[in-house]
Amino acid sequence: MSDAATTPDFIALDDRWSAHNYHPLPVVLAEGEGAWMTDVDGRRYLDFLAGYSALNFGHRHPALIAAAKDQLDRLTLTSRAFHHDQFGLFCRELAELTGTEMVLPANSGAEAVESAVKLARKWAYQVKGVPDGTAEIIVAGSNFHGRTTTIISFSTDSDARDDFGPYTPGFKIVPYGDIDALRLAITDRTAAVLLEPIQGEAGVIVPPKGYMAEVRQVCDETNTLFIADEIQSGLARTGALLALDHEGVRADMYTLGKALGGGIMPVSAVVGRRDILGLLKPGEHGSTFGGNPLACAIGRAVVKLLATGEFQERSRELGAYLHSRLLELDGVAEVRGRGLWAGVQIAEGGPSGWQASMALAERGVLCKQTQEMTLRVAPPLVITREEIDFGVEAMAEVLTN
Ligand SMILES: *Cc1c(COP(=O)(O)O)cnc(C)c1O
Repeated sequence: MSDAATTPDFIALDDRWSAHNYHPLPVVLAEGEGAWMTDVDGRRYLDFLAGYSALNFGHRHPALIAAAKDQLDRLTLTSRAFHHDQFGLFCRELAELTGTEMVLPANSGAEAVESAVKLARKWAYQVKGVPDGTAEIIVAGSNFHGRTTTIISFSTDSDARDDFGPYTPGFKIVPYGDIDALRLAITDRTAAVLLEPIQGEAGVIVPPKGYMAEVRQVCDETNTLFIADEIQSGLARTGALLALDHEGVRADMYTLGKALGGGIMPVSAVVGRRDILGLLKPGEHGSTFGGNPLACAIGRAVVKLLATGEFQERSRELGAYLHSRLLELDGVAEVRGRGLWAGVQIAEGGPSGWQASMALAERGVLCKQTQEMTLRVAPPLVITREEIDFGVEAMAEVLTN
């Protein structure tokens, strides 16, 4: 068989040779720059998804590519059997940026969540005094924290969960945003509460005002850890470094990922309190690739971009503009979210999220539904006002038809 050349050729290859665990739009991308991508037929698309926030700085941000290239020419991998000259600097810079005390680097977001779960359990046994093997972690309904067997054990999405058991015990699920339910669920054996400050996959769900502060208070009263999963909401997406910053709330541990890798490679981390992360001793946890020199060099460049506050400000200002424009659209029932992040609820009688995504792609805008009738709009934070107009006008055509 000859090499693929056209869009249908590439899609046929994917269908034949890869597991069908995704249903992508029929677009085959070949290049990206800033907020734009180009497909194999030379068509250009505005990126209205940004890799689910992995591309907060756009495609191939020059400072990030330069950092990666520089490190590629020096040292790429050591394993943690040895020290390297990017590791401690990355950890210090990320801790200072996030106002935390210690960093545990990993690769994917799911790994960071797994690491936080393990840390919370260790803390429960060694510090809180929970009887061995009985620690509980409380999570919210409609959560999304990743795809490992432990994490899907506490998912409420049957697609994510069914047929993958037996499931990991030790998790309790309460309704998101319901502080009374959380209060009732906490016992002497509760190690932690694990929450997304805004639920991304669930449809960009913002909890009731004051909920996060109440979670903090309940955790303090009951000696329970508060773990914020900021893998999608963090790193400037909502107009603040961390989405919890809007609430004036600090978590005990944060999981970070997606944008931490600068859109170049998977880089994730748990950041948080020294008296929790410091419990890990050599041999108790690890990752061959976690904290590798290339990842750390890219992560340091990401931290440097975030330290200026420029992207947070862009997300705040342009996000307000995006939300105001989306709210004007006919065919939109609700717009949820914060900053350059919007869950656009399509009105009844309108196209499905999939149909709308297909029609947007034909108009040169790429985004994707989350849930049946919600479009998740999360452009790269380098997007301009004019580009937002281009995207919103395409949405106006698609949703009012
Ligand atoms: C994407 C995501 C994850 C999982 O990250 P992966 O890198 O896909 O493993 C976990 N939590 C949240 C909130 C996410 O958005």
